[in-house]
Amino acid sequence: MLIKEMTATQCRQFLVRMDFGRLGCVHDNHPYVVPIYFAYEPDRLYGFSTLGRKIEWMRSSPRRGRRGH
Ligand SMILES: Cc1cc2nc3c(=O)[nH]c(=O)nc-3n(C[C@H](O)[C@H](O)[C@H](O)COP(=O)(O)OP(=O)(O)OC[C@H]3O[C@@H](n4cnc5c(N)ncnc54)[C@H](O)[C@@H]3O)c2cc1C
Repeated sequence: MLIKEMTATQCRQFLVRMDFGRLGCVHDNHPYVVPIYFAYEPDRLYGFSTLGRKIEWMRSSPRRGRRGH
C-alpha cells in the first residue's frame, strides 16, 4: 500500500467526517495510545475523559501539535 502525506485541507476534511480516533501521548519515552471519541471544529478537538493516566501524561508533557500546517 502506498502511503501519501495528507495536506492540511485533507486532514480537516477527514476530521469533519470522524468522531472516533486514537489519542497518543508519551511520558519518559513510553508511548500510550487509547481509543477515544471526539468532536472537531476548525483547529479544535473536543473530548471527554475522567482523570487517569492519559490526562496525567499529557499534563506532564503539554506539547501542542503543529498549527497552521
Ligand atoms: C470505543 C472506545 C471509545 C472510548 N472513548 C473514550 C472517550 O471518549 N474518553 C475516554 O476518556 N475514554 C474512552 N475510552 C477508554 C479509553 O480508551 C481508555 O481506556 C480510558 O479512558 C482509560 O484511560 P486512562 O489513561 O485514563 O486509564 P487509567 O488511568 O487506567 O484509568 C483512569 C480511570 O478511568 C477508568 N477507566 C479505565 N478504562 C475505562 C473504560 N474503558 N471505560 C470507562 N472508564 C475506564 C479507570 O477505572 C479509572 O478510574 C474509549 C474506549 C473504547 C474502546
